[in-house]
Amino acid sequence: MGIRFCVLGSGSSGNCTLVASEKSAVLVDVGLSGREISRRLEAVSFRISDVGAICLTHEHEDHVAGLKVLHKRHNIPLYANTATVEAVSLRGKCKGLRWTVFTTGCLFEIGDMTIEPFTVPHDSYDPVGFIFGNSNARVAVITDIGMSTSLVREKLRPCSAIIVESNHDEKLLRDSDRPWSLKQRIAGRQGHLSNAQAGKLVSETAGPDLRLVVLAHLSRDCNTPELAISSMKRALDEVGRSDVQVFAACPDRPTPLFTVTPGKAEAS
Ligand SMILES: [Zn+2]
Ligand SMILES: [Zn+2]
Repeated sequence: MGIRFCVLGSGSSGNCTLVASEKSAVLVDVGLSGREISRRLEAVSFRISDVGAICLTHEHEDHVAGLKVLHKRHNIPLYANTATVEAVSLRGKCKGLRWTVFTTGCLFEIGDMTIEPFTVPHDSYDPVGFIFGNSNARVAVITDIGMSTSLVREKLRPCSAIIVESNHDEKLLRDSDRPWSLKQRIAGRQGHLSNAQAGKLVSETAGPDLRLVVLAHLSRDCNTPELAISSMKRALDEVGRSDVQVFAACPDRPTPLFTVTPGKAEAS
């Protein structure tokens, strides 16, 4: 079997992605309430009791809001690097949780999946992206990334599916009535990827196995799914990869459950 995944919700109001193989299911970030995550898992025929681990990319609230409830009520093991554990613990409300600490850059395993955390630039303590793998597929999850780096490009190249941030349309952000300092933060090298930057990153790194791109963390005010999708498709067309499917994740409902197998990515 390949790898299945579903972005349960994505945006500044909360991020959570299910990644599963035959024997294991993992949540990447839990920025929605425990109840909402349970409800959305059921919508794609999973139960909260199927989830064997929560892996955190970083400590921002839109990635950790449901952490305490899911860990304490449902006893789901937590995985993060040292700096993220410390940052979450410092916030006070998540003291006394039991963690499994991974090292950024070092592969680890959960069930029958390998998980590779790698450094991404973002304004948090030690933010990471993840590559999930088994013998049939590799799936990347990179949200909250301020810019492309050679390490990120190297990690994406062998992937069959990429969940990537496509946060804002540069003109809509520029013209928005947000304070100048916030615009600078979002567009900065430790902020969030624009549609154009996401398109450049994916089109530069699209390897022969790539079949599917899911756009995540879209800004409500400074983006639309149509703009994000058309920007990514244009970038892929320019490098002769119009065969790659492009979807956009929403804040308020899950994407379809995707199954990625050698040479194929299907929505169910
Ligand atoms: Zn975020
Ligand atoms: Zn963040």
